[in-house]
Amino acid sequence: MASSKKDIEIPDLLRNLPSVDDLMEDLRGEGENGATTPLLADAARSAIETRRSRIRSGQGAVRDAGALSSGGVSSLREALRLEILAEARDILAASQRPALRHVINATGIVLHTNLGRAPLSRAACDALTGVSRSYSNLEYDIEAGRRGKRGDAIESLLQKLTGAEAAVVVNNNAAAVMFAIRMMAEGKEVIVSRGELVEIGGSFRIPDIMAQSGARMVEVGTTNKTHFEDFERAIGPETGLLLKAHTSNFRIVGFTEEVPRNQLADLAHSRGIPVLEDLGSGCLINVPGLPHEPTVMASVQAGVDVVTFSGDKLLGGPQAGVIVGKAEWMDRLKKHPMMRALRLDKLTLSALEATLRAYLDPEKALREIPALRMLAEGPDAIGARAESLLAALGDEAARKLRAEVIEAVGRVGGGAMPTAELPSRAVALAPEGLSADRMDQLLRKGEPPIVARIHEDRLLIDMRCVSEAEMGPLAEALRALADSSP
Ligand SMILES: *Cc1c(COP(=O)(O)O)cnc(C)c1O
Repeated sequence: MASSKKDIEIPDLLRNLPSVDDLMEDLRGEGENGATTPLLADAARSAIETRRSRIRSGQGAVRDAGALSSGGVSSLREALRLEILAEARDILAASQRPALRHVINATGIVLHTNLGRAPLSRAACDALTGVSRSYSNLEYDIEAGRRGKRGDAIESLLQKLTGAEAAVVVNNNAAAVMFAIRMMAEGKEVIVSRGELVEIGGSFRIPDIMAQSGARMVEVGTTNKTHFEDFERAIGPETGLLLKAHTSNFRIVGFTEEVPRNQLADLAHSRGIPVLEDLGSGCLINVPGLPHEPTVMASVQAGVDVVTFSGDKLLGGPQAGVIVGKAEWMDRLKKHPMMRALRLDKLTLSALEATLRAYLDPEKALREIPALRMLAEGPDAIGARAESLLAALGDEAARKLRAEVIEAVGRVGGGAMPTAELPSRAVALAPEGLSADRMDQLLRKGEPPIVARIHEDRLLIDMRCVSEAEMGPLAEALRALADSSP
């Protein structure tokens, strides 16, 4: 019965689709004057075409069939026009929005790689805006009145903060590692422990990086244990470098052993070979409440020749790859032809400089760098934010959503400290007649989009990474969710 009704409806529906011109007129009439004619036409055409193919596949009946009960072609035409107009309006709005935009992170994962890792500090954003709106002394020595060197200020900050002789910054840590291996060991052997052959994801795998850098990888030891003698025996006339890599995103626990970096450095230097350490996250100070991480300073002090790390992981700055170490190696990096292809632009340089500057006073870094502040925040402070979100919902919306504050577990993210569990607080939602999946979808489609987490059929809004400024829009989105629940 139902299918025969549909068969009758399909030609009717197709016949009553609005024309592109009519739909464009409607959009204009709604005051969509900011949009150019081609944008309006694209939105109208796209909405009609989408509906046409849905109708053809039997999925395009009008939603509010009750309104058509009076029957007649004109009301079917009118119902279709209104629905397609709404779709065209959404398409138009989406086409006028930047593709890369603000998202509210309600996942409880601080350095969420898919959500852009570390948010920048106020100082970093100000610095970035300051140099981007106007000209700057990017490569100009103001005192001398002539050409200067890009990145000089960053280098002296990094010297102060890490104790290294010199520094170079590039586009990201993957580039830093590849660049350093190529420069230090192209055509030679690089010795690395089997316990450190890490894959970071997004195609960063130590063996592949090694191959791309033109070096030959020599693995030593076993997955869980690598001894000093393993390295000692493997060093030969072809050896160009010893590599130590941070096993950022995995842990081997139990019966394990690795060679301490100072012993590795002593061994390498006694044979006239350098050591490179890929530290991954690049911790400058330890965050209270988090597991101890090896700092950049410790690696430099242990005698590691070249150390690399990310700008946007635990450091809390923009995407960048930081290389610090012995002046001799840094000079060679600066003169290498690849440097030009990997160098940072002024926006990143300014944000990185401001981020590093905060570390001159560690207390200030913990206060002002958002990633550090969010990582250090305890469950009570997060819980207070959860309670104020609940209060902002109002009694009726809270009751409809069956919202309550619960204990949750957050993560560091960004492939750092994979086993660390951050005690957090979340607002859990479980309304009747609205599934967690559906709520998740609705919140993602909102403006700004909200990315939450589903746990045991409830939607969790983890408050760790929600800023004060995001509280209003978040409460508004949840109230809208309550309104849409039956
Ligand atoms: C994250 C990471 C990288 C890659 O750094 P990007 O800045 O993302 O390019 C390389 N090595 C280790 C050990 C890492 O943890």
